[in-house]
Amino acid sequence: MTKQIYDFSEGNMKMRDLLGGKGAGLAEMTNMDLPVPHGFTITTEACHDYQRRQELSEQLLAELDQSLSALSRLTGKQFNGSDHPLLLSVRSGAAISMPGMMDTILNIGLNDQTVIALAELTGNERFAYDSYRRLLAMFGNVVDGIPEDDFDQILTDTKIANNYESDLDLTIDDLKEIVAKFKNLYENYDHGGFPQDPKEQLLAAVNSVFDSWNNHRAQIYRRQNNISEDLGTAVNIQEMVFGNYGEDSGTGVAFTRNPSTGEEGLFGEYLLNAQGEDVVAGIRTPKPVSVLKESMPILYEQLLDIAKKLENHYRDMQDLEFTIENGKMYLLQTRSGKRTPTASVKIAVDQVNEGLLSKKEALLRVEPESVSRMLHPEFEEEDLRQHEILTTGLPASPGAASGQVYFTAQDAKQASDNNKKVVLMRADTSPEDIEGMIVSQAIVTSRGGMTSHAAVVARGMASTGVVGAHELEVDYQKKVAKVKNQLIHEGDWVSVDGTSGNLYLGRIKTTDATIKGELSVLLGWAKEASKMGVYTNADTPKDFQKALDFDADGIGLTRTEHMFFKPERLLQMRRLILAEDAAGRKDPLKKLLQMQQGDFYEIYKLARDKEVTIRLLDPPLHEFLPHDEKEIEVVSKQTQISSEKLKDRIDSLKESNPMLGHRGDRLAVTFPDIYEMQVQAIMNAVVRLHNEGVEVSPHIMIPLTNSKQEMAWVRNLVVKQIDRVSTENDIAVKYTVGTMMEMPRACITADAIAECSDFFSFGTNDLTQLTFGYSRDDIGSFVPAYIKEGILPVDPFQTVDTEGVGELMKIAVVKGRKTKKDLPIGVCGEVGGDPKSIEFFEEIGVTYVSCSPYRVPIARLAAAQAHIRSVVNEPQFEKV
Ligand code: PEP
Ligand code: MG
Repeated sequence: MTKQIYDFSEGNMKMRDLLGGKGAGLAEMTNMDLPVPHGFTITTEACHDYQRRQELSEQLLAELDQSLSALSRLTGKQFNGSDHPLLLSVRSGAAISMPGMMDTILNIGLNDQTVIALAELTGNERFAYDSYRRLLAMFGNVVDGIPEDDFDQILTDTKIANNYESDLDLTIDDLKEIVAKFKNLYENYDHGGFPQDPKEQLLAAVNSVFDSWNNHRAQIYRRQNNISEDLGTAVNIQEMVFGNYGEDSGTGVAFTRNPSTGEEGLFGEYLLNAQGEDVVAGIRTPKPVSVLKESMPILYEQLLDIAKKLENHYRDMQDLEFTIENGKMYLLQTRSGKRTPTASVKIAVDQVNEGLLSKKEALLRVEPESVSRMLHPEFEEEDLRQHEILTTGLPASPGAASGQVYFTAQDAKQASDNNKKVVLMRADTSPEDIEGMIVSQAIVTSRGGMTSHAAVVARGMASTGVVGAHELEVDYQKKVAKVKNQLIHEGDWVSVDGTSGNLYLGRIKTTDATIKGELSVLLGWAKEASKMGVYTNADTPKDFQKALDFDADGIGLTRTEHMFFKPERLLQMRRLILAEDAAGRKDPLKKLLQMQQGDFYEIYKLARDKEVTIRLLDPPLHEFLPHDEKEIEVVSKQTQISSEKLKDRIDSLKESNPMLGHRGDRLAVTFPDIYEMQVQAIMNAVVRLHNEGVEVSPHIMIPLTNSKQEMAWVRNLVVKQIDRVSTENDIAVKYTVGTMMEMPRACITADAIAECSDFFSFGTNDLTQLTFGYSRDDIGSFVPAYIKEGILPVDPFQTVDTEGVGELMKIAVVKGRKTKKDLPIGVCGEVGGDPKSIEFFEEIGVTYVSCSPYRVPIARLAAAQAHIRSVVNEPQFEKV
């Protein structure tokens, strides 16, 4: 077995995996000649070995003896010494920081004898007993599992009996008495007393730190933060320095920049006459580190100097632990500091301006998802803390909003007309709910997944959305929803967090945000550094404008069906569908044409020279028809068709599997006049803009294509229409006609399809649905269980399944480009805005991604990172 212990002087910052983050940091600081107390690190490999054999190996024990002797020589102190006792701290430290999750024991080496020696040596009896009582409490709790509260209670009782305000008021006699009582606790718990032998203490402490890798909270933390179970922890054993030595001693933590705002300057807290755990435990209120400037100016300057050195050395904001013993500064830890998204962006940009980082490095420092948290309203932290989570669903569309609950789109609309802020709460939504959805601050459903109707629409409208909140039972009859035993009545206030998926009762205050300052600078660099384009999915000028504000390269997908959901359009659409023949379809088609051409005109006008890809009608027609009796009555009056006839027609359009039925370009084959109308509307907008001096090149996209023959048929229909309008108006229009790649068959035959397609765009929502055979609207009932059981790593509708769906995509890219070398290939399904998926898309050669407006900046940063990482030999940086 390789060496299991490294002296700090033997390690360095690159040895994180072996020495853990803390050990690697201590070693690096030692090599930098910073004031670090002497010590050594037991490796994570030794931890694995311990986990296997459940005891410390002979080799480790032998190395430990050698290291202890070396430490004795170095410090001039002896473990169990009667003149100059060596006291040790034993601290955990995994390769990835897991703050507070594993164990630490300080002051190892004290016993009834060495405490006297320490008191005599230092002439500070109070300090010696204060250290001893700390060891007894920590060791008792960590090694023997005696509840911390039992120790605290003894301390509190002493303070109350003497009317003390703080631990600092405890006298020497008090501390001696406390030590005696603490020792008794061990007897009470039948642990055979506190071990007086320092070596026995040390070995027990090392065992406990290794064991703490598997304690419950550490396991939960790893699961939540995706940290591998296999890392294991190192153990750092270090000569103690004492912050509890007196009034010119203390301990503290400092960040080299403000971790909340990113502002420059040392930021932190310290406590005088204290040991580390006092700062964390909140027993006394620490002072801001800036106070040190006045009270100990020389030390403050030294700390400032060390902070600067470390930040320059690590080229990142650091989180330091320091201890001052008798007016002398020591460093006990350095690591990359955790920070808010705002701070992370500001620090990255500032460090480029300071010459510390390259732009590419800065881009890799910011987690793309964290950008999302800077772009939406958020609940005010303070107010949020006052509210309990009612239930949690899928975080379908980020943002934070409060409103009064309504259960139907009509009620929501009416309430909104009466100036109420509303939250639409439903089992699920359908296109007919669109009006209610538009006016809602947030949409909540109890069913559905991340690509369900509610989720897609909420994201498209940049409205807050939580879907698939299973605990929610909606009773439309009684206008009430139930979560566990809590009832939510119509009109009750709720608050919805679309970023976490949490639902709360009552109103929570929000804060707003936009792209500005450093974020705007960083995203500018991201654009320069990426290869893939970032487009948006937008159906209205409003959505498109939002995406343009976020610097989208254009529109990658306009779902034209969403334009038909406004009430007056829905009526025409219904007349169209209900018409018995082509003659009956003429008038509604004419009216729809008028409306659609206006939509396209507005969008093209906004786009200027940016590309806009318009997809022709996709969903099954029955989605546009009324479903309940009341609505059928209304439509019957509007269309002058008897309700019987209407019902017959609705029945005739019903399908067993509408998602696999009469939709997409299948509609073009059976109702060519609908696609013809849409192309005409596009062309009318193009002509109008041409007459205004603006040249537009339309990009028309065909959904659901399965084969070359099908694509050729639809393409022919589209091109004929374009040619006709061009000739009639005597203009030359440059256009492209491409297809969505969302059918497995299309991917497999992509070389043939590419012969009559000018571009591809992966519709990963349908492609995932069809590859897995998972209905995208019904995954809420089983995918969470699959993820929990580890059968699926993640929801494949949120992060692309590289093994299956991804393989089909690869086939399509390779085959498509075999036919057309420069074929543009996009992704416009929901995973188009997902950073992990974007990394894969870069790998397989996708040209652009397209996502909902609010995901554009996230996708932009992810695209830049993917490209930077794909360039060989680019240095990789530690994730913060
Ligand atoms: C898709 O299937 O991924 C897609 C973008 O189309 P839609 O979600 O409209 O079916
Ligand atoms: Mg689709």
